[in-house]
Amino acid sequence: MSRPRPTGFEHRLKAQALAAGFDLAGIATLGAPDTARQFDDWLAAGHHGEMSYLERGAELRRDSRRPVPGMVSALVVALNYGGTQPPGPVARYARFADYHRVMWDKLDALLAWVRGELGDVNGRSFVDSGPVLERDLAQRAGLGWFGKNTLLINPQLGSFFFLGALFLDVALMPDEPFATDHCGTCTRCLDACPTQAFVAPRVLDARRCVSYLTIELKGAHTPEQAAMIGDHLFGCDVCQEVCPWNAKFSRAATEPAFAPRAELVEPDVAAFAAMDDAEFKRRFGDTPLSRAKRVGLQRNAVTVSPMWAPPNADTRARRRAPSMPYLAF
Ligand code: SF4
Ligand code: SF4
Repeated sequence: MSRPRPTGFEHRLKAQALAAGFDLAGIATLGAPDTARQFDDWLAAGHHGEMSYLERGAELRRDSRRPVPGMVSALVVALNYGGTQPPGPVARYARFADYHRVMWDKLDALLAWVRGELGDVNGRSFVDSGPVLERDLAQRAGLGWFGKNTLLINPQLGSFFFLGALFLDVALMPDEPFATDHCGTCTRCLDACPTQAFVAPRVLDARRCVSYLTIELKGAHTPEQAAMIGDHLFGCDVCQEVCPWNAKFSRAATEPAFAPRAELVEPDVAAFAAMDDAEFKRRFGDTPLSRAKRVGLQRNAVTVSPMWAPPNADTRARRRAPSMPYLAF
């Protein structure tokens, strides 16, 4: 919808997003993603493995105007979750309550603010929750570039952040897309990946990625998969940990809901193997671990258990070394 907007509306909208706690905010015009072709090639190669929902939603992902008819612009936001936490068997993003609710609440509040400013506006929030290539949208909104590890990297924040978008049926003045690539000749992420999951820079074969193997994949691990997983109980941050942009610019999360839980920073991996549904739900039902469900976590615990002793800094460092030789403990 093209409607008159107060002078400086876009600037104030982004300022409102930052005031709501987001670390980055930009505006993009919806349309065909620049990476639509690469996405199609990736699917055609089967690199998505068993994530069939990506195939089902492919037609919608080929144009961000399709998921919600009438939407024309997006406020794209990023929320830092803290890349300065120590490494561990649970990926950093999963060490606290599920982030979707936190992001949605902030985006809903921003939609209410937009309505207060412009009147009757339609909007829809997306947080990894719909058929939208959010990283593409974030690059368009000027928030960063696609690193060789496939993640969006911001030159002031690194890559340890969640992305979200508020779609609006109001035509907004977009920001300049992020046009430069700051990876240069660096290949640290490609070299450090414990499973050689990158078939080329910016092309990830998810079937080899520890995050896929410990979260998305159903069923028992094969011996080859178990060897690739090493001591990762849930997810993997290695290709972010080694990135010099994170080494320099990652910072602790300021969002109170993202304070890491001790039992997920230093988990008793063996205890997962004995956990019943009720205990799993009580302790982890509100965290991202619930995506893999209790059976998935138990499978992972069995897979990694030969690598693990009960939490103890010395044994952990020693046991991690064979599978993660690129990390200096
Ligand atoms: S998350 Fe881990 S396994 Fe997956 S690509 Fe990155 S380093 Fe490799
Ligand atoms: S590790 Fe190097 S190549 Fe990989 S994303 Fe970071 S800067 Fe780019």
